[in-house]
Amino acid sequence: MIAEALAAPDSTSTVAAWQRELQESFRSPAALAAHLGLEPCPPHVPTAFAFRVPRAFAARMRRGDPADPLLRQVWPAPAETHEASGFGPDPVGDLAAARGDGLLHKYHGRVLLTLTGACAVHCRYCFRRHFPYAGQTASRGAWTRVQEALHADPSIEEVILSGGDPLSLPDARLAAIADDLAAVPHLRRLRIHTRQPVVLPSRVDDALLAWLSRFPLPTSVVLHVNHANEIDAALMAACAALRRTGVHLLNQAVLLRGVNDSVADQTALSVALFDAGVVPYYLHLLDRVRGAAHFHVPEEAATTIMMQMRDRLPGYLVPRLAREDAGAGAKTVIA
Ligand SMILES: *Cc1c(COP(=O)(O)O)cnc(C)c1O
Ligand code: SF4
Repeated sequence: MIAEALAAPDSTSTVAAWQRELQESFRSPAALAAHLGLEPCPPHVPTAFAFRVPRAFAARMRRGDPADPLLRQVWPAPAETHEASGFGPDPVGDLAAARGDGLLHKYHGRVLLTLTGACAVHCRYCFRRHFPYAGQTASRGAWTRVQEALHADPSIEEVILSGGDPLSLPDARLAAIADDLAAVPHLRRLRIHTRQPVVLPSRVDDALLAWLSRFPLPTSVVLHVNHANEIDAALMAACAALRRTGVHLLNQAVLLRGVNDSVADQTALSVALFDAGVVPYYLHLLDRVRGAAHFHVPEEAATTIMMQMRDRLPGYLVPRLAREDAGAGAKTVIA
């Protein structure tokens, strides 16, 4: 993890309000538990994947409830240390597919760019929690080579900015990246995979909106919201501002035991997302990453939830239930 990158704002830009807010994030389970009135502090374990929760996200957790679905996503439960067969450090084969310089070209026409390993929040189920980002990001030093690779392959129609969280980078850097991408003649679409507008709505500020508005190609921003309780007034305002720039807002969620593994949870999530102007895109089965087995929901249970959602919601509010299989040419859609 290169979380420190967050605390070192780009030298060419001034420190934005969201960057200052990030520095006030909770860095220890005990501090968050005290803030939420959880006495005594629920059991937790120290882990190499650091604890990190912005105050704006903690504000949506219920006070005094150790089973809160938002808290569960970030809590380093003792179960993280249990060995579970089939759960490893690189569950989706990203290391095998990496071309270096943060370029991941697994699917036809789409290239995923890992811009940074930094995230505002650390989700305990993250499939990249053990990813060795050093040498595997499209950093400034690698950027010329990344551009050459994009220009050299006319089959690439879409670039996906990913991470970590690409919006961890300052807007001056992102605007420069966007300008360089706009100069790739065969590029038709841009996509941004980010959780920052969710966990830190102040990230959607004028500087971000300015370069997004200017970017000439159709753009989608794929958010990561797992539970309806994550959608508050601040996030809705951030979504409205993003939409005014002309971007399409989609959501990908992860199906997590004890967080959102019921028809009621998933239905409420889809409805709340659409109220915020966001269309549900994928519901991912958990990637089998070491330390996350306690979040696992079996495929049959997941399929049942989907079938019941289809009975209750319009088709466009039912996400695709998908699994990522290492080495496959696309996500595997299950239902
Ligand atoms: C998920 C993913 C994509 C995007 O897949 P879509 O089905 O187009 O959303 C692209 N590249 C990689 C490496 C991915 O993991
Ligand atoms: S925001 Fe995304 S990349 Fe970052 S820790 Fe959470 S799931 Fe992983």
